Amino acid sequence: MNYIKALALLLAFLGSHIIQSEAVCGYESCPETKSDMINIHLVPHSHDDLGWLKTVDQYYYGNKHNIQHAGVQYIFDTVVAELSKDSRRRFIQVETAFFAKWWEDQSETKKQLVKKLVNEGRLEFTGGAWSMNDEAAVNYQSVIDQFAVGLKFLNDNFGVCGRPRVGWQIDAFGHSREQASMFAQMGFDGQFFARMDQNDKNKRVDNLGLEMIWDASETLKELDFFTGMLYNHYSAPPGFCFDSLCQDDPIIDGRSYDNNVQSRVDDFINYASNLAGYYRSSHIMVPMGDDFQYENAYMNYKNMDKLIKYVNERQASGSKYNIIYSTAGCYLNSLHKSLQSWPNKTQDFLPHSHEAKSFWTGFFTSRPTQKRFERDGNHILQVAKQLSVLAELSSEKQTKDLDYLRQIMGVMQHHDAITGTEKQEVSNDYDRLLYDAILGGANTASDALRVLTNQPNCEFESCLKLNISECAFTKDNADDLMVTLYNPLAHTSTQYVRVPVKNENYQVTDEKGRVVASELFPVPWQVLALEFRNNDTQHELVFKATVNKIASYYIKKVDKVEDIDSIQPTQIKQAFNEEESKLEVPKRFKKVHSLKTDAQTSDDGETVVQNSLIKLIIDNNTGRLKTVEMNGVSENIEQSFGMYKTARSCHYIFRQDSDLEILEDAFDFTVYEGDSVKEVHQQINEWISQVIRIYEGVNRVELEWLVGPVPIDDELGKEIVTVFKSGIASDGVFYTDSNGREMIKREKDKREDFNPDLSEQPVSGNYYPVTSRMALQDANKRMVLLNDRSQGGASLEDGRLEMMLHRRHIFADGSGAAEAINEQQFGKGLIARGKLYLSLNAVEDKATASERKAEKEIHLPFWKFFSKTSNIQKEVTKSLPDFNDFPQSVHLLTLEPYSNDEVLLRVENFLDQTEGNVVSFNIRQIFDDLGGLEIRETTLDGNLPLSDMKRLKFHHDGSGPNPTAPEYFTSLHKPLAADKSQDASDFSVTLNPLQIRTFIIKKEVA
Ligand SMILES: [Zn+2]
Repeated sequence: MNYIKALALLLAFLGSHIIQSEAVCGYESCPETKSDMINIHLVPHSHDDLGWLKTVDQYYYGNKHNIQHAGVQYIFDTVVAELSKDSRRRFIQVETAFFAKWWEDQSETKKQLVKKLVNEGRLEFTGGAWSMNDEAAVNYQSVIDQFAVGLKFLNDNFGVCGRPRVGWQIDAFGHSREQASMFAQMGFDGQFFARMDQNDKNKRVDNLGLEMIWDASETLKELDFFTGMLYNHYSAPPGFCFDSLCQDDPIIDGRSYDNNVQSRVDDFINYASNLAGYYRSSHIMVPMGDDFQYENAYMNYKNMDKLIKYVNERQASGSKYNIIYSTAGCYLNSLHKSLQSWPNKTQDFLPHSHEAKSFWTGFFTSRPTQKRFERDGNHILQVAKQLSVLAELSSEKQTKDLDYLRQIMGVMQHHDAITGTEKQEVSNDYDRLLYDAILGGANTASDALRVLTNQPNCEFESCLKLNISECAFTKDNADDLMVTLYNPLAHTSTQYVRVPVKNENYQVTDEKGRVVASELFPVPWQVLALEFRNNDTQHELVFKATVNKIASYYIKKVDKVEDIDSIQPTQIKQAFNEEESKLEVPKRFKKVHSLKTDAQTSDDGETVVQNSLIKLIIDNNTGRLKTVEMNGVSENIEQSFGMYKTARSCHYIFRQDSDLEILEDAFDFTVYEGDSVKEVHQQINEWISQVIRIYEGVNRVELEWLVGPVPIDDELGKEIVTVFKSGIASDGVFYTDSNGREMIKREKDKREDFNPDLSEQPVSGNYYPVTSRMALQDANKRMVLLNDRSQGGASLEDGRLEMMLHRRHIFADGSGAAEAINEQQFGKGLIARGKLYLSLNAVEDKATASERKAEKEIHLPFWKFFSKTSNIQKEVTKSLPDFNDFPQSVHLLTLEPYSNDEVLLRVENFLDQTEGNVVSFNIRQIFDDLGGLEIRETTLDGNLPLSDMKRLKFHHDGSGPNPTAPEYFTSLHKPLAADKSQDASDFSVTLNPLQIRTFIIKKEVA
């Protein structure tokens, strides 16, 4: 770095330091309260969805008023104007995506004004992530990312005063423990939300338990997290909505027959008095806001000013109510200073229900293809971020494209995006945004590969339809193709790769020219039959690849090679004879399926499909999977498909009308057996099919399902599920993951703290979100299902796991979207395809460690890039940092450009205390390889130096006398801080089970 640059940086640093040290933001800026009174914290806020009934942009700009009156840009305009009129006024701003969009358009003068408001604590960022994310269907990696993006924007523009202290998850549909855990790891002091099961809430009202300390991890220490439930949703008290969207009366204090000061103040104090009875301290929080309110903030503040004036005036005549403008942070700070104790919470708040007939468990599965697309978005985001660091990309376009993908992934985490609870038009808009963002990310990744492999002319094209085995690039160039694989995991990984090709003979070679065994499998005819699919490629070439970070394989058409042959079916079992079969195979695909076979159906009515690790038995009479043998255990596991017919389900809610109807009919199947891959192609009915695969060396069974169009000609909606029934005596207990990290124990018909009302919805009320894994076990055997997107899952009988795959409804129940969730494609119901992975294990120590590893491989498999081999020049690949020195349980959670001269590195020990140990390793080599000058450790989000983290600590009920002075949590370990000149031993990193550590590496800039 040159001296001028260094000096400029130093000055910039000093400058921002001076501004920050003068500012009185945070808790120091909180309004004064009165110790002998009930302090009513009025918290002005607006809940601004990043898409729901309108698109993100429609909400921002305010068009489409016919759908919903909402224009977020005006909210900021008027709130800022009103805040600047009176230093007592406060506002909390939550969704950073909207704020950032507004900020871009402001003049320097306006920006200075806003900075002043922030520095004085009048405008307080709360939550502060790019969106207010859902908590059921999200993966922790994407939540961390979207907080990092939002908080970085605030940090870059406002410094420490812009840093949120409190989570504000008021509209999420149930709450996960992992979310609380992530908040705590980001250094947040607490969170507030507004939804929990009605019975839970009632009980907590009775027991003064609406505010609690959440023990947010079974494994990590000191993850206590204060959590508060709002009493009256997130709305102003009934009758006190002064917003232009409301009909409530203003405060009329002039000489008028309509003067209502007396009655309004009576009503308000009455409300506050009741509220105070539901909470423990002498402080109560009253949110003043709702969806898209404050478009004309003048009305809100004018009336709140009067409310405050007249409520407080009564103190002169003995009233004990003190009302103040406040923020969620200031309210929490008051609770902390009260030195009280609070009840404990250990599990989570899922599923949510607001009445006995309404469990919000449908959204766990709603819009299954959008839920998968979001995962694709995360996949390319991680790949593009890592590659950008490795190739040191720095162009403006590359930086912008990567930022855009980060931001759109933040939008996708929103509680009406990944949940699928938005209107269809909005869903289409999310697809458009994500598709554009993915293209940008994929282009950035290709740029990086061109640099790293020294192949400036190679395409490194990504294909986004590989899930239906379609890729224009391989179609046109299958004769001579290079597949470059990028492995986003820390360790060298071996995986099977599938490439769509024509029905020809191919040879695969690796970078050293060695021939790699490969096999050609037919694409199931049900996939070829998809109306929109281009059918030039009807086969997939499958080969095993081992990749550290980057590896290329070459596919070449050959005339005939001995060991490469199209796989012929070894078994074709037709449950119906040809004439009776209603399942007409379209003529143009007959060829694939009329291959001759020598295989005989065995006499015992079973078909065995096996490799060295796994043995599957298919029942010839039914076509179903019947028995699984693996890991030294054998179990009868019967898989079936079924549906719940209902006229009452919606985007959010799965409402069961009748019992599960299992599809009992026997069905056809065909077996294809290669040396390393075995496939069973099953035709379940006219609109459900499946391929079961086992790969040599891979210890799980892959089940790729294809469901749709779900028929609705009987005018009933349907929830489509698959069921795995075993003899495992699970005793009503099963386990589901929390956002892809820790597992949570579920017990049929039970909740941790209350009795759920399952009288009307015994099935729906037993559904839980499964974002990566669900399992059950007895003393000997354990059955596990992993998935490739978020879904709802349940165990309604011992030994039985059920996963909801698809939903289609024709009923609009009046909740929100006001339309049925009935996704269409080409005028027909949507067809969805996805994968489940089944494994069976002996119950023994650390058996679940392999499940964790599988989760990572499924979440972040190799990304495939395709190029024409004719464009290849000399092969000189740049040497890359080697993450294989990390202990086996360490995941490279994030490697991304953080600023022009900084890289963010986030590492995670992904095993818990029952599966793994404390691990230590040294990152000096990685630091040097990345050109590191200095390294510092931060909180989980990357924006706060870990040494500055000081979280509010609250006192548990029953844990001894209350403290006499406020207590805090600081980092349990000494934050890593080192520079290049220091000894390698200063770069040692220790990770406890499930611990994540985040580092910013300052590096040399070329
Ligand atoms: Zn919302």
